[in-house]
Amino acid sequence: MTSFKTLDDVNVHGKRVLLRVDLNVPMEDGRISDTTRIERVLPTIIEIADKGGKVVLLSHFGRPKGARNEEDSLRPVAAALEELLKRPVAFADDCVGAPAAQAIAAMKDGDVLLLENTRFHKGEEKNDSVFVDELAKSGDIFVNDAFSAAHRAHASTEGLAHKLPAFAGRAMQAELEALEKALGSPQHPVLAVVGGAKISTKLDLLANLVAKVDYLVIGGGMANTFLAAQGKAVGKSLCESALLDTARAIIEEAKTAGCQIVLPEDVTVAKKFEAHAPALFVTVDHVGADDMILDVGPKAVAHVESLLAKTKTLVWNGPFGAFELPPFDEGTNAVAQTAARLTREGKLLSVAGGGDTVSALNQAGAAADFTYVSTAGGAFLEWLEGKELPGVAALAG
Ligand code: AMP
Repeated sequence: MTSFKTLDDVNVHGKRVLLRVDLNVPMEDGRISDTTRIERVLPTIIEIADKGGKVVLLSHFGRPKGARNEEDSLRPVAAALEELLKRPVAFADDCVGAPAAQAIAAMKDGDVLLLENTRFHKGEEKNDSVFVDELAKSGDIFVNDAFSAAHRAHASTEGLAHKLPAFAGRAMQAELEALEKALGSPQHPVLAVVGGAKISTKLDLLANLVAKVDYLVIGGGMANTFLAAQGKAVGKSLCESALLDTARAIIEEAKTAGCQIVLPEDVTVAKKFEAHAPALFVTVDHVGADDMILDVGPKAVAHVESLLAKTKTLVWNGPFGAFELPPFDEGTNAVAQTAARLTREGKLLSVAGGGDTVSALNQAGAAADFTYVSTAGGAFLEWLEGKELPGVAALAG
């Protein structure tokens, strides 16, 4: 793993700590609809403030494309942060220049200040060195606690780490440690679940996992393409017919790498893609011409559960079926609950993330028992693809 320094390696007392967080929270009708991202970074903010550091927060918000606009201002987020933190949070109207300098000059040790959206400046996404220098004026050290933005080489995620002494915040540290245990140097056997809609969006991910895991369990619409590649009829199911050769190549790669690909033996079919559509369990040899495969079946679930019983490490991305439409959430729910129980019993290390996976595991009531659930989205997927994340690489000490 990329070695990195943490808050254990620096004395922040009296220092101006430029802390990159991801406060890009979802908004509905001008109100924050989910505060998870704010909550995740509270421990780092509190630790630095309690150790006498001046906490200067940097974040992007929305996609203002290098120009200021009121809609993408972080000001309302400062108010929400203040509430959750239960301490005052000052706000500066710009992340560089006089507004930032004046606000920082007014800070006492232990104070918290949020600077305005970094993406109001074109230099942010361009990782422009002049803009990096401007940002760096506000800090003595740089702490990155935004894993979810680490797949972007931007000024506040990557550039600053080369300009100032750089450290991982506690949320970043927890994420990197969990990911290292899951795929970097995991305990074997490792089982990966890859589900979701299409293989076309997950080719790099499949190639990386095939090389690293012992069992690759394929579910969701993706499994249909693999079943079709093996000559099975999939009726009207979601299937990427142009990728049958690709699916066969992945099966071959897996054989060479000693990775066992696990496809469902039975599936749940329906005639309509809608909630509570009449559904049947059939083996994969009996899918009718007007059937749609919308979930795995009970035999497939039992097979995955028997593999999980002898697995040490689980990595999960993507649901087993169209989990938004009951009863096609049953496969996902059953396997997720088994993984949660094995984790609770100390028999399994379980790491999940990416896209809809977090909501699928929440819906199954399983997320809280997983060892680690990443809410990082794109960054988590790039990590699953085996790519180096610029924001993480730049922390290498
Ligand atoms: P992804 O973003 O690739 O992880 O895909 C998640 C989406 O895949 C969810 O919206 C599911 O409803 C959908 N999905 C999973 N299984 C199927 C299936 N068998 N047929 C159609 N859609 C599916």
